[in-house]
Amino acid sequence: MQFPAVQQVCVLGSTGSIGVSTLDVLARHPAQYSVFALTARERVAELAEQCRQFNPRYAVVLDEGKAAELQRELAAAGLATEVLCGVAGLCQVASAGEVDVVMAAIVGAAGLRPTLAAVNAGKKVLLANKESLVMAGPLFMEALAQSSAQLLPIDSEHNAIFQCLPYPCGSLAEAGVAKILLTGSGGPFRERDIEDLSDVTPDEACAHPNWSMGRKISVDSATMMNKGLEFIEACYLFHASPQDIDVVVHPQSIIHSMVQYRDGSLLAQMGNPDMRTPIAHALAFPERIDSGVPALDLVAQGRLDFEAPDEVRFPCLRLAREAILAGGSAPTVLNAANEVAVEAFLDGRLAFTAIPQVIEEVMNSIDVVELTGLNAVELADRNARQLAHETLNSLHEAGAGSDETPELRSM
Ligand code: NAD
Ligand code: MG
Repeated sequence: MQFPAVQQVCVLGSTGSIGVSTLDVLARHPAQYSVFALTARERVAELAEQCRQFNPRYAVVLDEGKAAELQRELAAAGLATEVLCGVAGLCQVASAGEVDVVMAAIVGAAGLRPTLAAVNAGKKVLLANKESLVMAGPLFMEALAQSSAQLLPIDSEHNAIFQCLPYPCGSLAEAGVAKILLTGSGGPFRERDIEDLSDVTPDEACAHPNWSMGRKISVDSATMMNKGLEFIEACYLFHASPQDIDVVVHPQSIIHSMVQYRDGSLLAQMGNPDMRTPIAHALAFPERIDSGVPALDLVAQGRLDFEAPDEVRFPCLRLAREAILAGGSAPTVLNAANEVAVEAFLDGRLAFTAIPQVIEEVMNSIDVVELTGLNAVELADRNARQLAHETLNSLHEAGAGSDETPELRSM
């Protein structure tokens, strides 16, 4: 009997929430998967610990100082792992000839170049980094079409939709799809008085009722920009138009999304809210492997609720829909302005309710341009970030000396 070759896996963003869950799944299947590279921005101690456990060929950090620090730690532990740094290092490990699978789990726009490098190199790419698809959708999907890469969604909703569609799936119409129903929990502030939202703290925003995630996506979930980004992500991934997708609020996060067919059938993918399920699904696809996630107990769960999203409470949903309808660079601008506003909120420099205000102001002030290539994407991203910083500064100036600065938090 011939054993299948061990798959070499590169985990981009291995110290993050998705990265750690990925390593948990990989560790359950040492005969099937081997870790080729691990990467982190700056958490050297955690990355060194992961290297001790998985003994990868490469480890990548963001700058040379951190690289030297990591190299010393690894040498002291007697490991031969080679340390690289910067975007060039990330792209090198994501596209290395030995690599079979790339988990794209860097957060934000920083994930774009390494994820594209993996796509261009024809890897099996497990996409958690939704921002890279949102900011460069048409370019990203074109690169995918031109390469032999296979893209598998890790976002639980998109993984659920993928599982509810036929494979391979050409057009939604040919598959008999009437609607994609993108579910979302509504986050921690679904029922909070709207008047109280301007005072919520970063820790409150990051306390998601069902999921444990990194801080940026947790804030996105609290503003529902996460669902907005996912709406755009779904348009690109499934070649859907905005009219093909409805957002449904489902507070328990047991159904991870659904596909409604022309004949009245509604297929849902369900499971306990634990990212190891979509990670294991995508890693092993089309086979199934153990993920460590306990089976869903429907009787203990008891009930599943659904409601329509409240776009007055969550203006980010509307902004995301406007961005995908505008096309071109509009989603790039939305994503960049959101990243700047969320960072300011997490740093205590911006009120929660001012996040959509900053994004809307930036979107209204920048002309939509065509995304002709990666440089155009990065230029649109830079311009939007600069304008978002200027908008933050003008909010601060407007608030200076006044007792009433609702859009700012005290520094
Ligand atoms: P996280 O903040 O926990 O981890 C981010 C990882 O990216 C870390 O390893 C960090 O070191 C690395 N990183 C951050 N900035 C970097 C930079 N400039 N250069 C290189 N590396 C950098 O985030 P997360 O919650 O794991 O989310 C990762 C991605 O997955 C995000 O795009 C998020 O939207 C998506 N996602 C996450 C979840 C979840 O449950 N956490 C679910 C669906 C999708
Ligand atoms: Mg999701």
